[in-house]
Amino acid sequence: MTGSCILTYHSLDTSGSVISIPPAVFREQMDWLSENGVPVVPLDRIRETPGAVAITFDDGFRNFFEHAAPVLRQFRFPATVFAVSGFCGGWNDWPSQPRHAGIPRLQLMGWQELEQLAKTGITIGCHTATHPYLSRLSAAEVEEELYRSRSDIEQRIGMAVETFAYPYGDLTPRERQAAARHFHLACGTKLAFLSAGCDALDLPRVDAYYLRRRLWFRGVDKPYGSAYLAARGWLRVVRQRLTI
Ligand SMILES: [Zn+2]
Repeated sequence: MTGSCILTYHSLDTSGSVISIPPAVFREQMDWLSENGVPVVPLDRIRETPGAVAITFDDGFRNFFEHAAPVLRQFRFPATVFAVSGFCGGWNDWPSQPRHAGIPRLQLMGWQELEQLAKTGITIGCHTATHPYLSRLSAAEVEEELYRSRSDIEQRIGMAVETFAYPYGDLTPRERQAAARHFHLACGTKLAFLSAGCDALDLPRVDAYYLRRRLWFRGVDKPYGSAYLAARGWLRVVRQRLTI
């Protein structure tokens, strides 16, 4: 079994926060994938492409437009941006945002930018309307979050929205079921490579924050070829780091 991997990014900025990767590091990482011939595929093809990487960006920060889109275009890498429909063109000050955690206040892309990206091959996915902890809402509120955000994004960009990311990776079987009614694929925040038969509605991802040191990012190539066990070892290293 050869692992593939969905990478999660949030913001490309130099604040050093837990959601931030410096733009220069992002460019280095993309350069590394390209130099090493790692296939970068659209999210909806990752499960059937062993040894590949899919790139995802949560929240739809404006710095994606400035710093990520040109680099992705240069390398011809596909990517998915999960937008928060109720805050497009505004700021990441949704009610659940913990300010004390040192997360910077950042501007989000507007509809025009999302529409433009969609036309140039970036997939726009859904990340709810107001970025809540879904498991804390009523069933009707969960349905409303998913339905409203999907239909708003579809209307604005003029394309179907088939992918979803759970805010904070917060899901129970109830949220998974709700996501199944609206989307083909949904991403969680479980830290793992993809394995055969993994749940399309709770796909594991690897947060690029933990790979921001170049050396760690290089570890991404270990699952390719036959070195699956090496990948497990690498994951163990990442997990150890996480507990520090
Ligand atoms: Zn988010």
